[in-house]
Amino acid sequence: MHTKILLDEDQMPKAWYNILADLPTPLDPPLHPGTGKPLVPEDLSHIFPMELILQEMSPKRMIDIPSEVQDILRLWRPSPLYRAHRLEKHLKTPAHIYYKYEGVSPPGSHKPNTAVPQAYYNMKAGIERIATETGAGQWGSALAFATQLFGLECTVYMVRSSYSQKPYRKSMMQVWGAECIPSPSTRTKAGSSVLQKDPETPGSLGIAISEAVEDAATHSNTNYSLGSVLNHVCLHQTITGLESKEQLAMVDEYPDVVIGCLGGGSNFAGISFPFAGDKLKGTHRETDIIAVEPASCPKLTKGLYTYDYGDVAGLTPLLKMFTLGHDFVPPSIHAGGLRYHGASPIDSKLIHDGVMRAVSYHQSEVFDAAQTFARTEGIIIAPETSHAARAAIDEALRCKKSGEAKTILFNCSGHGHFDMSAYDAYYAHQLVDYEYPEKLIRESLARLPKIPGT
Ligand SMILES: *Cc1c(COP(=O)(O)O)cnc(C)c1O
Repeated sequence: MHTKILLDEDQMPKAWYNILADLPTPLDPPLHPGTGKPLVPEDLSHIFPMELILQEMSPKRMIDIPSEVQDILRLWRPSPLYRAHRLEKHLKTPAHIYYKYEGVSPPGSHKPNTAVPQAYYNMKAGIERIATETGAGQWGSALAFATQLFGLECTVYMVRSSYSQKPYRKSMMQVWGAECIPSPSTRTKAGSSVLQKDPETPGSLGIAISEAVEDAATHSNTNYSLGSVLNHVCLHQTITGLESKEQLAMVDEYPDVVIGCLGGGSNFAGISFPFAGDKLKGTHRETDIIAVEPASCPKLTKGLYTYDYGDVAGLTPLLKMFTLGHDFVPPSIHAGGLRYHGASPIDSKLIHDGVMRAVSYHQSEVFDAAQTFARTEGIIIAPETSHAARAAIDEALRCKKSGEAKTILFNCSGHGHFDMSAYDAYYAHQLVDYEYPEKLIRESLARLPKIPGT
């Protein structure tokens, strides 16, 4: 019985899966924040290369992965699929638990799966520098890595509170040649105006997005890049689900349950879309596909499915998605990558239409799971990833009660080697289980944007 199920390098997928081709009803289009009209490609061309804009809207089912991108992905791909024998034994479950391990990438998470093609398409378009934001630093380090390999410059606006609390992600960006600036900064008008009002501000992801977008929009050699949420990001992540499907087939398995944690929704999209596609096409109708979110930022389980902005300032296009309101500030939890008010429009639609579902957990519950996982499988996983592990363990425990030998697959999105202070807080009993702040959610949902022209 295998522990690691491995693909050869030449078995790595050569095309991404675009689930837009298989949706029974089309996605509601993104809207221009000024006019309320559906976006056209030109609306985005000052900050994104055309190839990515076309992918964002493409009707093609399979989209070729350029060979230069494949060459770089092969530095760590295909990634291993593990059978969690020791975890199964510990839980005394008849379920088969598999996890796709994305922590083997050089930056340690799934994020370079999209950072690499994004850097490539920008390089091909003649762009010399990419500006982006980062919260805890995982996206910034992934983009620093990817831009370095394609000879691009990279400017990362890092939320100031994380900049001081998570110094080693910043150090990684430096090794890979990126410039990492604490946000808000005086580099941009958006940053300067926040600093003028509040020089001691800890910053926020919303402010950092505004700074990176402004930087890109005001420099002709510079584009902007986003690490999650958008359709093309979800597309690039499908390589994880496509590989997993091949790997499971090698041991004659097909998952009954597919699980991923959800911040903006890209690693969940990546692991699940190839299986959701089978569900939509009717070849595997019963697959249970589960997104896992933190109880402190419960957009999928407590938010609304409606149009909202992607950033706090309301500069981005309006996206139809599950949201807590664009100015909702979630409590500070250790899974920084899951503290986002919205979610990918495709994930949102599939959850809204009942093709997938969502669950939420508290911090202490997910760290219990992370500890169990580390003490059985060995890997110390990221706090974000721990949400998926919690849900997988709970499904396996349900199987123990019912006696069902279900096959469970979850995306193990990254390691937690830069998150040890979060584990320290767990052992010091300092984790706070925030009840979802219902009053705050009601208030921010009351401030949802009115769509211009309606
Ligand atoms: C960023 C991150 C996430 C959340 O982002 P998604 O776009 O929702 O996938 C999850 N896990 C890890 C390890 C991350 O770095």
